Amino acid sequence: MNIHALTTGAVRVKHSFLFPSHGPRRQLDLFLPGAFSDPLPIHCWAIEHEGVLRLVDTGETASARNVPFARMEVRREQELPAAMAAAGLKLDEASEIVLTHAHGDHIDGLVHVRGRVLINETELGFLGSPTARVMRRALRQPLPPGFAPERLALDGGPFGAFPRSRTLSDDGRIVTVETPGHTPGHISVICVDDSGRHVMLAGDATDTLEQLHARRADAVAPDTDVHVATLETILAHCAEHPTVYLPSHDPGSAGRLATAATVHAGESPALVHD
Ligand SMILES: [Zn+2]
Repeated sequence: MNIHALTTGAVRVKHSFLFPSHGPRRQLDLFLPGAFSDPLPIHCWAIEHEGVLRLVDTGETASARNVPFARMEVRREQELPAAMAAAGLKLDEASEIVLTHAHGDHIDGLVHVRGRVLINETELGFLGSPTARVMRRALRQPLPPGFAPERLALDGGPFGAFPRSRTLSDDGRIVTVETPGHTPGHISVICVDDSGRHVMLAGDATDTLEQLHARRADAVAPDTDVHVATLETILAHCAEHPTVYLPSHDPGSAGRLATAATVHAGESPALVHD
């Protein structure tokens, strides 16, 4: 199995996005003036296994609009086709594309792909809700043209600490697991690599490994309790299985993939709860 970190440009996010306040200011602060982070990568991932090339997410495109709490830094020559070429891969050969969730910096690159596209049925249901429609319009973040993914039902029972999962590869070494919080139907993809480590392509389950250890809900999660419960589940999984934890925007993710650095409970900082 070969897993490749692809980078489709960068994003700067508000400090209040990475380190939200508690209570009503958690989301309000996103729309007030505030400092922005250094550029964070916009990763998506390619998995070569058993002669099949899969993608997890598709990255951002140059035409993406900024939102009040995120500024995109993506040039055309950084979009998915170039990112695939840089990894020595042919985009035409990607036959299955799994989306962790339906935010622009994960799905806008769909305009470049032709394979089968899968998304959690819960996420697809949420996308049709009035709340999601209003937010897409207010933030001017339309779904990409031709957006028509297939529904993925996570009906395969538990996988490690995760209660709901669905196997993607015939040999069971590539598995989607339900990681709700950042969005209601967010999923992650776990690849059991050739040495038995679990490489977790975590989308926006958190922005960083630090956020996972801190068990800190993010600023956009509709329900912070759901998000924190997912972070506890991920940490429980990491305690059971050596896990390389790779969020899409963590500047440390590509390095951890390259060195197969696993999550250790001892790295946890003091619990940060309100
Ligand atoms: Zn997101």
